[in-house]
Amino acid sequence: MDKLIIHTESLVRDLLAGEATGHDWHHADRVRKMALKIAASEGACDLPVVELASLVHDLCDPKISLSEGKCFDAEQWFSGLGLAQDRTAHIISIIDSLSFHGAGVATPMATIEGKIVQDADRLDAIGAIGIARTFAYGGKKGQPLHDPDLRPVQHESYEQYRSQKSTSINHFHEKLLLLKDRLNTESAKKIAADRHAFLEEFLQRFQSEWDCRG
Ligand code: FE
Repeated sequence: MDKLIIHTESLVRDLLAGEATGHDWHHADRVRKMALKIAASEGACDLPVVELASLVHDLCDPKISLSEGKCFDAEQWFSGLGLAQDRTAHIISIIDSLSFHGAGVATPMATIEGKIVQDADRLDAIGAIGIARTFAYGGKKGQPLHDPDLRPVQHESYEQYRSQKSTSINHFHEKLLLLKDRLNTESAKKIAADRHAFLEEFLQRFQSEWDCRG
C-alpha cells in the first residue's frame, strides 16, 4: 500500500504542477493530513481509501486547471496499480460526491471515509488558508475582489453556482460561511469553529477598510 501511495503522490504533484487556483499539490497534501487526523479521532475506517481519495480528490474537478495536456482516470490509475476493485469504486464514489455545489444543493456522503475526506476538504476552504485560496481562485478566474452592487446569491443548482458572475467577497457568503454547518464529523466541527470566526473577523475588517473607517 505504501508504494501505491507514493506513486499517487508523485502523480498528483505532476498533474497539479503550476496549478494557481489554490487547488495545488499542497492543498491535496493538507487535505490528506487533515483527513488522517480526523480519521484518528473518528475511529475505525479504511485509511488507505481516506488517504488515496484525499490525494486525488480534485483531479477530476472541472474548476481546476491541470497541467497542459494532462488528465486523470481514477479507475484506470488505481486498477493499474493493483488496488482492489471495491476500494477503487469507493474512492471514485467519494470524489464524485465531494464538492460543494451551491447553498441549496445537498452533497451527502454515504460512508465514513467519504464524510472524513469531505470535511478535510471543507476545512481547507475556511480560516486563513481558505481566505488566501479564495482570492487566488478569484484572481485566476478574473473575478473582482468585491463589488457592492453585485449581491451574494444562494444558488439552487450546481449550474447556477458554476455559471453566475460573482466576486471573491461574495464567495464567502455563497460558500465559505455556510461550511461550518455542512460538516459531517464532530472533530471537524470543533476545528471549524475557530476558522469560521476568523472568516467573520476578516470580513468585518475588510468592510471597515472599504468604508475608510478606523
Ligand atoms: Fe479540494
